[in-house]
Amino acid sequence: MPTVLFAADPALRDAYLPHLAKAFAEAGLDVHLACEADPAEVDYIVFSPGGTIEDFSPFARTRAVLNLWAGVENIVGNPTLTQTLCRMVDPAMTESMVEWATGHVLRHHLGTDEYVLNQDGVWRHDETRMPKLARERPVTILGFGELGQACARALMSLNFPVTGWSRRQASLAGARCLAGPEGLDEALRGAEVVVLLLPKTPETENVLDSRRLALLARGAFVINPGRGALIDDAALLAALDSGQVAHATLDVFRQEPLPPDHPFWAHPKVTVTPHIAAFTRPATAARVIAENVRRGEAGEPLLHVVDRRAGY
Ligand code: NAP
Repeated sequence: MPTVLFAADPALRDAYLPHLAKAFAEAGLDVHLACEADPAEVDYIVFSPGGTIEDFSPFARTRAVLNLWAGVENIVGNPTLTQTLCRMVDPAMTESMVEWATGHVLRHHLGTDEYVLNQDGVWRHDETRMPKLARERPVTILGFGELGQACARALMSLNFPVTGWSRRQASLAGARCLAGPEGLDEALRGAEVVVLLLPKTPETENVLDSRRLALLARGAFVINPGRGALIDDAALLAALDSGQVAHATLDVFRQEPLPPDHPFWAHPKVTVTPHIAAFTRPATAARVIAENVRRGEAGEPLLHVVDRRAGY
């Protein structure tokens, strides 16, 4: 019977343990699920930021560390981690990201704020100010993996022309796919909306800097549910102040919680959401964990294995 150690943030125990027990049972697995165990007897570790393990070296027989988060930047560089690391691809988290990203793209596309924030008795009906259609508003998605492509499908179903940028060449029906450092400028040139869904790695840090922000269409919208470090904060603030960027909706930050005195909070052209774009959902995530334990026990390849050299 394999031992699965729940070493994620202890605050998550109540939410996850019943779902994990159920998912293991549904997968036909007889598992010893524990929050504490002799490291020498642990077969799989369920982990998250804020988890209970910093040194993975005593876990000599552990086959895999199964991260509850999609992003692995908090663990991938841990020098004691020699075990296989898997990240989370949770269908409900993907659903949630699609809703969040599509909602914020539509908010900016429709200019909703103008009406929501100015309900002042003035009837602003003006047929000479024809709003753009989605088909006239190019959207670029930086990071064209699980989440980026799911958002692209939703946006394309609304007729937004979508360009996706990834490390390796991707292919998604209906989307323009560009790849690698040589494809980045072209992906950004003339984009009216940029959605960032890249992982945080040394290569992706500051991917949106002042030079690249200048490639966007004037008055573009920046939407970042990826990671804070993807954007040069000072360059973004300058682009907002100059009008090059009309608004930034930011869910993730270099420092979280975002400090109360950070200029993003008070900036009239910035919307701050507190890293809520897409939570891992215990019921569906537990099934993903159970499937990986089943695979591990059956000697099958694990799902969503992190490429340690690429960093995601
Ligand atoms: P994923 O499937 O691994 O996709 C990552 C994408 O980024 C891939 O297309 C990858 O290219 C691309 N990429 C990585 N490094 C690159 C580079 N140097 N140059 C160009 N493209 C690069 O990950 P995911 O599941 O979509 O998640 C993406 C990120 O979203 C996570 O890492 C996390 O930071 C963030 N996230 C945020 C929330 C939230 O609530 N705010 C929730 C979940 C996830 P390839 O296709 O070539 O590999």
